[in-house]
Amino acid sequence: MGHVDHGKTKLLDAIRETHVMEQEAGGITQHIGAYQAEINGKTVTFIDTPGHEAFTAMRARGSQVTDIVVLVVAADDGVMPQTIEAIEHCKDAKVPIIVAVNKMDRPDANADRVLQQLSQHGLVPEEWGGDTVAVKISALKRQGLDELLDMILLQADLLELKADPTAPPFGVVIENEVDPGIGIVATVLVQQGTFEKGMYLLSGESVGRIKAMLDESGRPLGKAGPSTPARFIGFSEPPQNGDRVYGFKEKKKAQQIAEARISHREQEQLKLAAPRVSLEDVFARIREGEIKELKIVVKADVQGSAEAVRDALLKLAVEEAKVDVIRTGVGQVNETDVMLASASQAIIVGFNVGITANARKLAEHEGVQIRSYQIVYKLTEDIELALRGLLEPEIVEVPLGKVEIRAIFHRDRNSVVAGGMVVAGKAQRGASYRLKREDKLVFEGQLSSLKRFKEDVREVNEGYECGLRIEGCTDVQEGDALELYVHEKQESIDAAAHPSAVTET
Ligand code: GDP
Repeated sequence: MGHVDHGKTKLLDAIRETHVMEQEAGGITQHIGAYQAEINGKTVTFIDTPGHEAFTAMRARGSQVTDIVVLVVAADDGVMPQTIEAIEHCKDAKVPIIVAVNKMDRPDANADRVLQQLSQHGLVPEEWGGDTVAVKISALKRQGLDELLDMILLQADLLELKADPTAPPFGVVIENEVDPGIGIVATVLVQQGTFEKGMYLLSGESVGRIKAMLDESGRPLGKAGPSTPARFIGFSEPPQNGDRVYGFKEKKKAQQIAEARISHREQEQLKLAAPRVSLEDVFARIREGEIKELKIVVKADVQGSAEAVRDALLKLAVEEAKVDVIRTGVGQVNETDVMLASASQAIIVGFNVGITANARKLAEHEGVQIRSYQIVYKLTEDIELALRGLLEPEIVEVPLGKVEIRAIFHRDRNSVVAGGMVVAGKAQRGASYRLKREDKLVFEGQLSSLKRFKEDVREVNEGYECGLRIEGCTDVQEGDALELYVHEKQESIDAAAHPSAVTET
């Protein structure tokens, strides 16, 4: 771990080049976020941790799956914000730190200043009477690497790090992706026991089966014991980074636990069937003491942005209220997200992702608010305004109903008069609509005329036929569908009713 540009990647590369066994010629090394190095006949697994502040969360998990953290500090730059964050994470996770004072080759390198700064953060070097091991290195010039690696092995001996290869296997997901050809591929770092090909995999509430395990060179592994990083193929649902994964010989056992987890969650959800929260009323609810914090489920297009959004949200807090992110995930907002939000009185924010049709339906039914954003700044601004009770009402699109075109009565230069059937909801004069043909958008407009038999009417309900005029488009065919909707302001609280919200800046 360490501040950006202090040399983490360079150090990993240097160790990889000097200590990783020769790859087979032509073998393609895949990025699996972890690799093993041979040092004096012992194997050490290194886990890459991304360097940027936005990925703090991933690093935090990184420190939980690791036994030792190597904290890289550039001797010419000293202790920086992400160095301090890393120290805090390690303390929190009770993971011992070995300091690598890097870039010692630089003319302006000042190791003493680094050690001085580290002491201020509770890492007092051994040479100054403390118990923090600090090694001076140059990743660029490959100096001090052996000493650093020796220190890692020594520390491991002192900590008596041991794992039982015969215990029931479990590991932690450190990276995962959906490969279009292979399906779900997750890098799992085995914590204890030994995974074998063909074993059943339990992660979250889903059971899969190990079809293959691959090492970083893409070579198949028959077995993966403690500390082995391997790409696992065979998950039935994408796991989340940081998830625990368990291995079972018998499918029944894995399924029993998965079922128990599902029913436990469902019971918890029933217990919590309480009024729902929307961003517009959260301030009032918090003031009235109905809820203590704004809970948020975050979905984003990639894990990195999900975590960046989460970190940005967690930094928001006003006197009366704070934010709790109860789940972050990758991909479209789905039914699971809605159920979780519903059960926990949370709202859902989607960042650069869509919402599945079923999730939308369920959210309407459950009264869960889903808000979509493309810009992190806009998202955090809205949440902050909501926490201060200053969020302007949002204009939202409310679906009304659907009409199927059954007959074309009249067609002139600019409009079409058609007969249709209201197949869902209702039709309303003045409503906006989208004209679709096999789900493709043909035209958008507003319903200026609506008839029932010859009479002009304001509304026609589901199950009834109606006559209508499409204006501005003549490309209307039997079988087309009109999706009707209206624009409405979402409920909001009146800022004037809460003077404190107005004066607070
Ligand atoms: P990361 O962001 O912590 O992964 O940092 P990198 O490994 O990408 O290194 C940032 C920059 O510092 C790169 O230009 C490296 O070449 C350079 N760098 C890394 N280690 C050393 C070192 O020991 N000495 C010098 N002079 N430069 C280094």
